Amino acid sequence: MASTLVRGKYVICQITGPSSAEVISDGAVFQRDGEIIEVGRYDNLIERYNPDEIIGSPSYVVMPGLVDNHFHVGITPFQLGAPDLPLELWLFDRMGSKEVDLYLAHLYAATQMLKSGTTTMSALTASITPIEMDDVKKILKAAQDSGIRISYGTLIVDQNRLVAGPKGGDKELASQLPSDLATRFKSYMAPLYLSVEEHISNVEEVLANYADNRYERIRAIVAPSNVHRCSDELLIALKELARKYKVGIHIHLQETVYQKLYGLYTWGKTSLQHLNDLGFLGPDVTCAHSVWVTDSDIEVMAATGTNVCHLASSNLRLQSGIAPVNCFLKRGIRVTLGTDEASINDDRDLLQEMRLILKLHRVPGIENTPPTAYQVFQMATVNGAYSSGFGDHIGTLEPGKRADIVLLNLLNIEEPYLDPEVSIVDAVIHRGRGIDVDTVMVDGEIVVRDGRLTRVDIESLYKELKGSLTRPPSPQEIERSEFSKQLEPYLYHFYGEAIGGLSQPHYQYNARY
Ligand SMILES: [Zn+2]
Repeated sequence: MASTLVRGKYVICQITGPSSAEVISDGAVFQRDGEIIEVGRYDNLIERYNPDEIIGSPSYVVMPGLVDNHFHVGITPFQLGAPDLPLELWLFDRMGSKEVDLYLAHLYAATQMLKSGTTTMSALTASITPIEMDDVKKILKAAQDSGIRISYGTLIVDQNRLVAGPKGGDKELASQLPSDLATRFKSYMAPLYLSVEEHISNVEEVLANYADNRYERIRAIVAPSNVHRCSDELLIALKELARKYKVGIHIHLQETVYQKLYGLYTWGKTSLQHLNDLGFLGPDVTCAHSVWVTDSDIEVMAATGTNVCHLASSNLRLQSGIAPVNCFLKRGIRVTLGTDEASINDDRDLLQEMRLILKLHRVPGIENTPPTAYQVFQMATVNGAYSSGFGDHIGTLEPGKRADIVLLNLLNIEEPYLDPEVSIVDAVIHRGRGIDVDTVMVDGEIVVRDGRLTRVDIESLYKELKGSLTRPPSPQEIERSEFSKQLEPYLYHFYGEAIGGLSQPHYQYNARY
């Protein structure tokens, strides 16, 4: 390892409030062996240090690497031919998609992330068969080969993997199917529904190997897939396991109206309230989506210190709705962000995702206060660092932190003119894009230089991916695709017209009368 002085017209060190940040003009960051030693004025640091390399110039902004706090797959469902649909239909529609090698998929995702300034991915991986230790190693190897940081959690399910609605889950849907379809449906789910002991043993194997932070760029977390997808016994056991290994928990929650209605049908309360009854919530827990939370759910989240991961693109693409982020921020709930299966551009450009979040919550009415650029920046850096298990290692540019640094070219942001009164944080979130990312450093190592990956040969990766996917669908993929089409009419019947009776939304964008 070596030392580097990273120079920029601005260094965004950290966000200090909803409308303030510590920014150094004509600044620099000096790092040695992956640790940030000092941040200050460039002319001051160049006098006192003798770095092995100086990168950047007054044409760049220097900022912390971004954290994608919720990610699942490499090649997106859209790329594999599954169009955007309401989540409940989409889960079935994509059943027949081609299977992609886990190593190649994660390497591809990592390259997209790094090239657009994301230095940490929270990989939450699902599969149609249980994920084994060899699969986990493949995923972690992909991250290691690319240089990205990874926070890993296998998504755990022991019930209702594909179905949850106002009339129940798996069992209730199966009871409405002709017997041959019901049998196929149950056998499709069966391989994932391991016993609680088997699930715990699998998760514990991962934690035993990776939860002790022996690898600087790897963290492990516990990831029950969703409240309705896990039995209470499993949820409690996973919570205990997370406590034992002192790791965080990431869980999908009330992503769609149907998931909310499942809670009301099953427990007479929302999933969030049910988790609260189980003693599951707390500052170690991040609830993904949380689109359909109630006012009292938000109060419980705030009171327990529970976090929310906002997945704006995913919620728009799958017709899930818009999470009440303004309400979360008002109650002081920590919000992170992620790309889920894709992002608004289908390319995991977190800068564009940040811009979407900046503008999505602008509810009409001058009394409404949407997130500021500073708050969105906070979501994508220090908040994501916290939730992904990297805690205070990353997320800001301060002495003692690890050197995860992005150099963003100011050309597209400031030229031909940008009023000097516009803050650099606003400028980056309003105008920055992945293509402006010039250089990316993870733990002091340059993994993207002049917009090109230093560790991965992108041409051969694309060639290999293309080669693995340019093939006719396998008999199993064809069978799954046909099966999902057969189920579709029953899904319409099962979910019915659910939204009708629900009351006042958190946000009001328009009105009929
Ligand atoms: Zn997800």
